[in-house]
Amino acid sequence: AKHGGRNQATWFEEAMETELQARSGFEERIRRGIAQGEFVPYYQQQIDLETGELVGFEMLARWNSPEDGLVSPDLFISVAEETGLICELSEMLIAQALEDAMQWDPRLTLSVNISSVQLCDPWFAQRLLRLLNETGFPAKRFDIEITENCLNEDLGAVRAVITSLKNQGVNVTLDDFGTGYSSLARLKALPFDKLKIDKTFVAELSKEGGNTKFVEAIVSLGAGLDLPVTAEGIETKEVLEALRKFGKLKGQGYLYGRPEDSRTTNDLLSARKLL
Ligand code: C2E
Ligand code: CA
Ligand code: CA
Ligand code: CA
Repeated sequence: AKHGGRNQATWFEEAMETELQARSGFEERIRRGIAQGEFVPYYQQQIDLETGELVGFEMLARWNSPEDGLVSPDLFISVAEETGLICELSEMLIAQALEDAMQWDPRLTLSVNISSVQLCDPWFAQRLLRLLNETGFPAKRFDIEITENCLNEDLGAVRAVITSLKNQGVNVTLDDFGTGYSSLARLKALPFDKLKIDKTFVAELSKEGGNTKFVEAIVSLGAGLDLPVTAEGIETKEVLEALRKFGKLKGQGYLYGRPEDSRTTNDLLSARKLL
């Protein structure tokens, strides 16, 4: 083969080098973006599916890049995690979100996504609690959403961070439930307050012959364990009706609203007299 032996090694090394350069270029752009304040919090409504009432918002990161426009978190969160920039980025977004949320009706909650990198940082809890203190936002109305992959990390370290946050009243949600290697042992490994069903399961409810048993089972699991359940990715009335039959749930999805910037969120809230 043409790419055999030494040639192949060279070709491979060059490819790696290009990849690394692209990556470090991207890292540099993220770093600059953070410094220029290009990352902004968007908010998606969370609804009590029984009453239709707005109960709070999930903050979802967006990158308002001068070159590329509004960039999805799927494109920058993993690089931010690998480079460690996620800590600075996330705390900046949370500080902004807490300031926004201080203007909201005092019944509304704020949920944020926290990556496992952050949960392994022994100082994370202290800095997060300081942000809550500085803004005066009550910990009881603050939720952190974490995924199962944090259970692959140093569990002792993660547990210490979670415990100090929970001691101050912060709620902990197990996000994307059902997508990883979920097991009851994993659910037991940390003191979660809530479960969130991933949208891939919720989407099954809208498919002809789709597998609805998993959603139903997760809802009963939550009920049995006294863990409130949230369903994400509710796009249609049909899905909403199916979910309502399974039990008491909270939910979010395009049916209720897409993630919006803080201005649009404030407009929505003031129209409902919740600002
Ligand atoms: P996630 O936490 O599972 O968030 C749900 C994703 O589904 C969001 O995508 C949301 O915009 C989208 N979504 C909401 N409703 C619907 C719907 O009805 N249908 C469909 N198809 N999708 C819906 P988004 O905003 O692109 O975020 C993607 C992921 O990026 C999030 O998934 C979360 O894991 C991560 N992420 C976002 N912001 C942050 C952050 O500040 N820190 C960390 N560590 N991760 C974040
Ligand atoms: Ca989430
Ligand atoms: Ca999800
Ligand atoms: Ca996720």
